[in-house]
Amino acid sequence: MTMRPHQKQPVVFVSHGAPTLAIEDGEAHRFLKDYGQALGRPGAILVLSAHYAAPVATATAAEFPETIHDFGNFAQSLYDMTYPAPGNPALASRVASLLEDAGLPATTSAERGLDHGAWIPLALMYPEADVPVVQLSMDPRRGPDYHYRLGTQLAPLREEGVLIIGSGGVTHNLGKLDWAGTHAATPDWASSFNEWVADVVTDGRIDDLLAYRERGPNAAVNHPSEEHFFPLLFALGAAAGDQPRQRVHHSYTYGALSMDAWQFGQAA
Ligand code: ZN
Repeated sequence: MTMRPHQKQPVVFVSHGAPTLAIEDGEAHRFLKDYGQALGRPGAILVLSAHYAAPVATATAAEFPETIHDFGNFAQSLYDMTYPAPGNPALASRVASLLEDAGLPATTSAERGLDHGAWIPLALMYPEADVPVVQLSMDPRRGPDYHYRLGTQLAPLREEGVLIIGSGGVTHNLGKLDWAGTHAATPDWASSFNEWVADVVTDGRIDDLLAYRERGPNAAVNHPSEEHFFPLLFALGAAAGDQPRQRVHHSYTYGALSMDAWQFGQAA
């Protein structure tokens, strides 16, 4: 890598909610804007988002990754937004080799850009788009352990100034949201699961999280499909037991959609 040395970075999990997060004022929108400033500028960012699935772990290796508008029926202003952060092909290669060293098949892609789960939180946290970004794919079919292990293998990058981010949602049942309002009441099935996650993450009970589908209250209702939960496990893997484990933001939007954010380890 050609990056200059940086202080060790924490690991972050963010809930990216709906694409309107980018343009509509709200608690999570304001939080992410302030949070990027509080964290400071890392040497590079590695983000795993729920919206990039691939059978082989793939790190984006474009010099300038394109902004992917992978959503439908939203305001034109969202489609006009771009996030022109540079890539970091050397970091992408390093990610792939760290995974392969651990027996996890991995590759790079010079074509793939950044999906909205990656670029929308980053556009709020680092609006100047001057920090190089690499995105890593996930594979929901492989389950919790795989995503935790992906993170574990990449933990050494934090010592090299790489801010590792998992972007998903602690709760994510889009069929049960109240689209009428961002301040709709939160149903018990969502808050009970969200708070169970908060307890087990705070306590570092990784075994419970890896078995969240059996042990978490209403887990399957909160995650009819699992891809939005696994970025949290990825982030905890990359944290490698570092403390503190802090819930740095807590709110809901559209009733049942948790916007919680977590930080593992201290900011540089
Ligand atoms: Zn999403």
